[in-house]
Amino acid sequence: MKIENPTPIKWQFSQRAEQLQSSVIREILKVTMRPDIISFAGGLPSPATFPVEHMKTAFDKVLSDQGKVALQYGPTDGYAPLREWIAQSLSIDGVTISPDQVLMVSGSQQALDLLGKVLVEDGSKVLVETPSYLGALQAFSVYRPEFVSVPTDENGLLPETVEGIADGACLLYSLPNFHNPTGRTMSLERREALVETCARLGLPLIEDDPYGALSYAGEPLPKMLTMNPNGVIYLGSFSKVLTPGIRLGYVVAPAILIRKLEQAKQASDLHTSQLTQMVVYEAIKDGFLSQHIPSIRTLYANQCKVMLDALEEFFPVGVKWNQPAGGMFIWVTLPKHIDGMQLLDEAIAQNVAFVPGAPFYANEPETNTLRLSFVTVPPEKIRHGVQVLAGLIKNKLR
Ligand code: PMP
Repeated sequence: MKIENPTPIKWQFSQRAEQLQSSVIREILKVTMRPDIISFAGGLPSPATFPVEHMKTAFDKVLSDQGKVALQYGPTDGYAPLREWIAQSLSIDGVTISPDQVLMVSGSQQALDLLGKVLVEDGSKVLVETPSYLGALQAFSVYRPEFVSVPTDENGLLPETVEGIADGACLLYSLPNFHNPTGRTMSLERREALVETCARLGLPLIEDDPYGALSYAGEPLPKMLTMNPNGVIYLGSFSKVLTPGIRLGYVVAPAILIRKLEQAKQASDLHTSQLTQMVVYEAIKDGFLSQHIPSIRTLYANQCKVMLDALEEFFPVGVKWNQPAGGMFIWVTLPKHIDGMQLLDEAIAQNVAFVPGAPFYANEPETNTLRLSFVTVPPEKIRHGVQVLAGLIKNKLR
């Protein structure tokens, strides 16, 4: 049977749905997918780092040896051997993390949504860095918080400003390593001061750390999780150290919060793909990441140097940028009168793209900022793209 002439539905979206918006970055990415564009816009890791053959072997092995288990529904908290592996790898600096404190999620993006769902009330204060990860602002926005911006400088968030603005706050969201969008790293002193302040105030502190393993030289600074596992909610991800397409991340937090997040996750998607988790466990259990990650670090460090050299060579006086110690991004600050959105339109007309900085601010945007990603563009194109941007900026200085 087929219904003829049904009454057209007048869709009434919930208030919550009415305020959903597509991320500006995803909109820009649609434009920049064109093959003729040199895109510094994407937050995508370099596909050159994806261990395709290794994953293929792991898929084959899991399906051959445990196919029936891998293709079945699984537990909401995740595949136990992988949770144990994560708990063990984070049990450092005298801290013991138990598998009970680990929840597997479908990308750390899902963790941001679940945390919003279980911790954020309508109108409650959420403290975020200035600027902050757009995907986190987007995830928390659904739960209608009041965002309060925490000031930052080139060494990250300023912990001494937190106490004065934290009254009634339900969480502080931070990104200490190779920040998205700024590429900055929070200093050790500031990590300690921030953990101490949050612990004193009883304020849950989210440590979002998808880039932590990608330092160019030396080991990353200590995790805030190890300074106070009772008060820090740590978000990890396989997206930047393995591949993002598998959509696999994890939350490490006190067990009482993990159980609540688990209930929220159950309602949302029952569990993260069992097949994916088993394959990832198979792929990493024998130490693969310790050979693989250094090759990503070397590639990104080289790409970063090419971009920094090009910025130095072509960008005019009056433009500032940082020197990242790891990760995928450089943050550029233009003279105050130059608007990043407007520059983007002109750049796209010349087949170059980047992400303007304004959307990364929860409040009062600094419109003269840009995020440049250097990991997916070959060196010659990095130089050319930077030269094009430099020309456009110089035109605005005349
Ligand atoms: N947090 C930050 C800071 C990110 O940059 C990203 C990815 N761009 C995510 C979380 C989400 O990562 P995923 O869901 O792929 O783990």
